[in-house]
Amino acid sequence: KREEEAIQLDGLNVAQLKEIREKAEKFTFQTEVNRMMKLIINSLYRNKEIFLRELISNASDAIDKIRLLALSNSKELDTNPELHIRIKADKENKALHIMDSGIGMTHQDLINNLGTIAKSGTADFLAKMQDPSKSEGLDMNDMIGQFGVGFYSAFLVADRVVVTTKHNDDKQYIWESDANSFSIIEDPRGDTLKRGSVISLYLKEEAQDFLEEETVRELIRKYSQFINFPIRMWSSKT
Ligand code: ADP
Ligand code: MG
Repeated sequence: KREEEAIQLDGLNVAQLKEIREKAEKFTFQTEVNRMMKLIINSLYRNKEIFLRELISNASDAIDKIRLLALSNSKELDTNPELHIRIKADKENKALHIMDSGIGMTHQDLINNLGTIAKSGTADFLAKMQDPSKSEGLDMNDMIGQFGVGFYSAFLVADRVVVTTKHNDDKQYIWESDANSFSIIEDPRGDTLKRGSVISLYLKEEAQDFLEEETVRELIRKYSQFINFPIRMWSSKT
């Protein structure tokens, strides 16, 4: 199937990833990001499944953005007129891939959006969450949704996250992180994505249940109610 091929191009093997790690530009996360990640891991360990809600909502936002851009320049959509979200449980690589044909990210977007927290109010949020007298009674789930720290929830279930992304204004890049630091490299495979992003979660040992088609389908049902784009799912039977 065509869709399946599109995602399998993004299944990097271990040797390729090793090479990428050696050659890549290395970055450290902004201090606020490190604090946010610790906070998420410590507060949401009983609620790991919300990572999928966050990543689906980011995929949906990315598609909204390209659609909005296309209102003023319809050519923006030409790179991939189909607007959709795909989720693949990849048992062979113990990975869950969330793919969207949205706006994608440029090199600079990757550094800004996945390395820093740009939002005002985040410092207040962190202070509040770390002060027990103020954080008591707050629903961490709501807080996270409200403050938009969603992406980093990927590390609730993954010990390694790889983002492959193609924006109309730039080349295709691979961003990779183990939650301690991150790296970026131009994709040696070229522009295999026409436009958009694939978020690949290399699942922790204790999160392997998210490779089960039934588990993922159930979560998609739960979290996709307000998503305006089709979400399709399949799993490799290895
Ligand atoms: P929020 O969605 O509230 O902005 P997130 O932590 O969920 O916060 O995401 C951070 C940023 O990373 C987003 O604002 C967006 O710019 C970028 N991003 C995340 N996922 C994607 C994606 N699938 N496609 C394009 N950009 C993305
Ligand atoms: Mg988000």
